[in-house]
Amino acid sequence: MRAALLHAVGDDKLDIRDDFTLTPVGPTDVRVKVKATGVCHSDLSVLSGVLPMPLPVIPGHEGAGEVVEVGDHVTTVKPGDHVIINWTPACGTCSNCLAGQPYLCMTFVMESFTLARFRYGGETPAFGMAGCGTWAEEIVVPWQGAIKVDPEVPYEVAALIGCGITTGVGAAINTAKVRPGTSVAVVGCGGVGLSVIQGARLSGATTILAVDPLESKHALAKKVGATHACTPDGLMEAIGTLTGGRGFDYGFEAVGKSASIMSAWQATRRGGDVIVVGAGAMDDVVPLSAFSLLFEGKNLLSSLYGGSDVRRDFPFFAELWKAGKLDLESMISSRIRLADLNDAVAALRSGEVLRQIVVFD
Ligand SMILES: [Zn+2]
Ligand SMILES: [Zn+2]
Repeated sequence: MRAALLHAVGDDKLDIRDDFTLTPVGPTDVRVKVKATGVCHSDLSVLSGVLPMPLPVIPGHEGAGEVVEVGDHVTTVKPGDHVIINWTPACGTCSNCLAGQPYLCMTFVMESFTLARFRYGGETPAFGMAGCGTWAEEIVVPWQGAIKVDPEVPYEVAALIGCGITTGVGAAINTAKVRPGTSVAVVGCGGVGLSVIQGARLSGATTILAVDPLESKHALAKKVGATHACTPDGLMEAIGTLTGGRGFDYGFEAVGKSASIMSAWQATRRGGDVIVVGAGAMDDVVPLSAFSLLFEGKNLLSSLYGGSDVRRDFPFFAELWKAGKLDLESMISSRIRLADLNDAVAALRSGEVLRQIVVFD
């Protein structure tokens, strides 16, 4: 079967080849034929080494597909079911899972660094990003990593729910718990930032400012729910005109850089919530003073995978989409083939595209 492989961090091109095989399906595993997968910024972070992964690795973590085989002990899905891939499968028994924070479960994260489920060129092992690797025609994941979804939801929509939507909408609804009538600033208008904007709109925020250096993204941000938009250079002026200089009730960072975390911090009012959604690098230190952390009274919150329990939230977001409350069509900038992934990566690096979705036959 075909997949796109990264041999080494910093490689210019992915090796798109057709000689992959999968390890056998274990008793608690599920084999999924991938039908659609997104090209997300976190995939770029694997290519650049910002997100460390074992190598060689097949990127891709935002995906949906059809179950083709299940292990003997799997009862949650059966062949033919449509599923969304969950890139943080939760074991259900560790202290994080028992604390109601399945998005912090490390059980399968650790396993993904030692368990290579792909083979190529004969017997050479290859890993899947976060234990999935959806830039492949088929994948094997633990049953907790394949969440059943209503077959009426198209695969491309389901794929978006697998990462960008859950991360962004979840950050607004689960982590920040945005309240009606409040003001929200969102720094970064990629797929996740636009999802935060949609979550803020759904929550009843009345002022939603989209901040992005690319003016081409401002119109789209407004289409999905932003009431205003500006470039980072215009942020101070927007704080003045939209909040009387007080700052926004919530400041979201959806880029994954210390500079944009500081922008979100500055955009947020005293006592407001600053929510870090973007995945940044280990050596990118946020320059916040101890003085500011106490005396500005702001709450610095982390929102990993939208603070979601995906067993509850994947179907929830699918329902919101079916009810016309989530605009996922506008988020897809192009539909591509697996063979186009190198071009797609280059396009995402330029920042001009939104969500490119690989569709499989
Ligand atoms: Zn766990
Ligand atoms: Zn992602």
